[in-house]
Amino acid sequence: MDPIHTEIMVLGAGPGGYAAAFYAADLGKKVILVEQDKKLGGVCLNRGCIPSKALIYGTRMIIEARESAHRGITFAPPQIELEKLRAWKNSIVEKLSGGVAFLAKKRGVQVLAGRGYFESSQTLRVETSQGQQLVHFQKAIVAVGSNAALPKAFDLGNPRVMTSTEALEVEEVPVDLLVIGGGYIGMELGTVYANLGSNVVLVEAMDSLLSGADPDLVRPVFKYAQAAFRGLRFNTRVTSMATKGKKILVATEGLDKSPKEDLFDRVLVSVGRVPRCRDLGLENTKVEQDERGFIKVNEKQETNDPAILAIGDIAGGVLLAHKATKEGRIAVETIVGEPSTSAGVIIPAVVFTDPEVAWCGLTEADAKAKGIAHQVAKFPWSASGRALTFDRIDGLTKLIIDSETERILGVGIVGHGAGELISEGVVVIEMGGTVRDLAECVHPHPTLSETIMEAAEVFYHHATHSFSPRKDQE
Ligand code: FAD
Repeated sequence: MDPIHTEIMVLGAGPGGYAAAFYAADLGKKVILVEQDKKLGGVCLNRGCIPSKALIYGTRMIIEARESAHRGITFAPPQIELEKLRAWKNSIVEKLSGGVAFLAKKRGVQVLAGRGYFESSQTLRVETSQGQQLVHFQKAIVAVGSNAALPKAFDLGNPRVMTSTEALEVEEVPVDLLVIGGGYIGMELGTVYANLGSNVVLVEAMDSLLSGADPDLVRPVFKYAQAAFRGLRFNTRVTSMATKGKKILVATEGLDKSPKEDLFDRVLVSVGRVPRCRDLGLENTKVEQDERGFIKVNEKQETNDPAILAIGDIAGGVLLAHKATKEGRIAVETIVGEPSTSAGVIIPAVVFTDPEVAWCGLTEADAKAKGIAHQVAKFPWSASGRALTFDRIDGLTKLIIDSETERILGVGIVGHGAGELISEGVVVIEMGGTVRDLAECVHPHPTLSETIMEAAEVFYHHATHSFSPRKDQE
């Protein structure tokens, strides 16, 4: 096959790669998008964000039906047809992935199916079904993403030990499920299986769930997990795992160092993600990696190799889809010579637990660690009419405010639909908005968005639905 010449080659068609390829094509560049999977969309669309959210929504119905009994509406116990649930989830993935392929075609982005390997700083060899194809490019954007970490000690070659990829297939509802790791993936998928009826035990090496998140926001999720999971073991490590008949025998050790053994039907290992840069040929380029294998980039997404940029999970930092997409845009702008930087960009985080947790900007702990004089204003959802109508008063809206300028430094929300609410926080921080801006903008009633306005009003001690006394009123 004759070599192909292109201006921009994007390696990996996840939310970073396809967004970058589309943007570059929209700006008039000749683009080739190389992807080894049959379906475009990467981890997020095929094995991450989308299927997990579909399952969370689908299975949450079981709990909602149960919870409506005290409102005088009862349902018969659910009949769960896993095949149909899977088919519905897969149909969403198919639709979206087909949409990405359609949009690539419309834009004239050439999609090359196959595994890419750097022969040099400006040549990629792609193993396609028809043989090897060389692609010569002026600039490359590497967007190959990450894989679920599966430590050797847990890799028994037994399908009952799952990473998130297998767990999302919901082959069965295990009676007893062990989730290793209380980060967002373990918590989200643990919730799906708990909703389906599994007895979920979660072990976490640290002393809390969702490490790194504001403890005020984690508290309601912890309460949920206490009620919905059969067990929560903190400061606990899995020391060994072995196949025992149809079960997995798991030994754990807590702070007291006394070993404990349990049998589980399935185990979900959710202990983090590792960069996917094996067999990429990076050694044939000037690209440098950090000690964990992530590609080193600057604020413009440039690597050490002048022809190669990197974005998304492979470039480290927070491993989230919208961060990958934003970096894709920054990389393209860098290539076309526009001033663009990731410095100061606010990347929100959302954990789709029950309730959801979302935050952006600085947390209270960040502000303290950076020595920034700040104040905190909180509005509990027990005072929100809308939260009551949802029967979800287990929420909190929290603002971190610069004491001197009254600018909003951070917003944290826990509660029903927090993920949909957090964007207001992103906008206000990006616009350099103040707590007064939030307090004075009229928010529609009754909505959960009012909790952001009322948290701002708490700062001035005049929130309508919460009494926050001034010093002289205390
Ligand atoms: P990826 O999506 O990993 O895509 C990389 C692509 O590169 C893949 O398609 C891969 O096949 C391809 N590739 C790799 N090597 C080669 C090669 N040599 N040749 C050709 N192609 C190659 N993030 C959120 O923001 N919100 C969420 O709710 C969320 N939920 C998640 C739930 C789960 C269970 C998981 C696992 C992840 C979740 N994430 C979520 C994280 C999100 O999926 C990732 O941050 C995102 O997919 C990273 O995008 P990316 O473009 O960097 O890479």
